[in-house]
Amino acid sequence: MDVYFGDIQDISTIDYPGEVVSVLFFCGCPMRCPFCQNFNLLNYSDCQKVSVEKIIDHIKDSAPFITGIAVTGGEPSQQIDQLIEIISKVKKLDLLTKIDTNGYYPKNLKTICDLDIVDYFAMDIKNELTPKSYAKATGLSSISGNKLINRIKQSIQTIINSNAIFEARTTIVPSINDSDKVIENICENISGVNRYVLQQFRCIDQVLDKKFADVPSPTREQLIHYAEIAKNYIDDIRIRTAEHGEERI
Ligand code: SF4
Repeated sequence: MDVYFGDIQDISTIDYPGEVVSVLFFCGCPMRCPFCQNFNLLNYSDCQKVSVEKIIDHIKDSAPFITGIAVTGGEPSQQIDQLIEIISKVKKLDLLTKIDTNGYYPKNLKTICDLDIVDYFAMDIKNELTPKSYAKATGLSSISGNKLINRIKQSIQTIINSNAIFEARTTIVPSINDSDKVIENICENISGVNRYVLQQFRCIDQVLDKKFADVPSPTREQLIHYAEIAKNYIDDIRIRTAEHGEERI
């Protein structure tokens, strides 16, 4: 079985809290977030096809040096059969498994949750859960906004009901979601997650919509302010900044 694939980063200490992992970049994503920095992974036509066996052989070579893998993208659950095959084989190597997701495919997430092979999910909650705001953050049409919100809510519930650790996370992007009201709305909609992480938007290289290349990063103080709002709803709140890495608030 082949997968539309970007690359493997053999060693990362920042993609799975407390673990040393290899990071797999799957191609394909249904969203078009204007601040996306992985836009070279959005379309299958820009990616190579690689056999699952080749990827597993590569992970076996790294296995003595890692404690798990993290699959990101793109949206990994878009290629659900390939994702299941890779995660199942990695579990047999006694490694931990993490999936990053945007929550667009709740049925696919349910399928993999039912197999109980994922140890950790990190799901992006990109904006307050209203059709117009979510469409703005994801570059999708607000006409499809209601369906989109339903998908996101179903995915949240699916992961909450699973045995995996559930990290919900929001990248704070000025002009998209930097307001108290947004954080309150998100927290009201993610009750039951294990932790909520506020991440700092940083334009390191290029972004999908060039307008966002000049948008300044929110400050650590701003993130702490939002974290203190979120503490009213969820116990385990963290921020991630360039200056201090991950901090529990
Ligand atoms: S940032 Fe948005 S467009 Fe980019 S990979 Fe993630 S969900 Fe897809």
